[in-house]
Amino acid sequence: MGLLTGKMALITGGSRGIGEAIVRKYASEGASVAFTYRSSSEKADVIVAELTKAGHQVKAYQSDAANFAQAETLIKQVLEDFEKIDILINNAGITKDNLIMRMSEEQWDDVITVNLKSVFNLTKQVIRHMMRNRAGSIINMSSVVGISGNAGQSNYAASKAGIIGFTQSIAKEVGSRNIRCNAVAPGFIETDMTHGLDEKTKETFLAGIPMNRLGQAEEVANVCLFLGSDLSSYVSGQTLSVCGGLQV
Ligand code: NAP
Repeated sequence: MGLLTGKMALITGGSRGIGEAIVRKYASEGASVAFTYRSSSEKADVIVAELTKAGHQVKAYQSDAANFAQAETLIKQVLEDFEKIDILINNAGITKDNLIMRMSEEQWDDVITVNLKSVFNLTKQVIRHMMRNRAGSIINMSSVVGISGNAGQSNYAASKAGIIGFTQSIAKEVGSRNIRCNAVAPGFIETDMTHGLDEKTKETFLAGIPMNRLGQAEEVANVCLFLGSDLSSYVSGQTLSVCGGLQV
């Protein structure tokens, strides 16, 4: 028996990085898993094929989390395919870094829409179902940058800080229906998102991490496992940092 046996989870952005690690962790702990991607259909197919072969129930959906209508269609389809959603993980996210002097309106809008509006889109569509079930766990992927801010990432920091306020509000709105809502704030995790950072930025980040190393996607997935499982049955409205002790 896994920690998630009998539960069904929907994870946005599950084709790479942290999302992929969550998909694999959740499947290995007994959950049936639906995950989305925006364009990595080949990667998604490989993940589904591997996990299905290992006996897990997993399905991938191409769906732009930033698009309200697509979120509505997605939730309908997932409920048709799996009949229920116990856990929603709003993980999809992007960066478009620039100093404010150079940041374009497009860079601002893209990051706010993909990172923050997506969390509204999916939560809005799933909440009625969870309220009917009188159960649910929603996990929103924030960032330590949403707590501390970061030069060159004002759009990203604003989106991730917005997620924390949203999380606290939803926890207050639906706690009485036995629906929990928490945020996870990863520090510097080794994924495609951080591979693109220049060496100077990486060194600056590393200098501030007491554990003196970058984090792995699986270490974030482990915290999502805790928040999705009944081990965290009285945890709601919180932001859990996964950052190797980084002071923010
Ligand atoms: P990543 O490796 O770049 O993967 C991003 C994932 O999100 C991919 O599966 C991508 O799909 C998907 N995605 C992007 N835009 C989407 C959209 N509009 N609709 C649906 N899916 C979309 O990123 P990551 O490092 O794993 O980050 C995952 C989350 O953790 C993000 O919210 C990020 O902000 C947060 N985070 C990461 C770090 C870090 O250090 N890596 C730190 C703090 C917070 P495709 O493959 O199709 O593009």
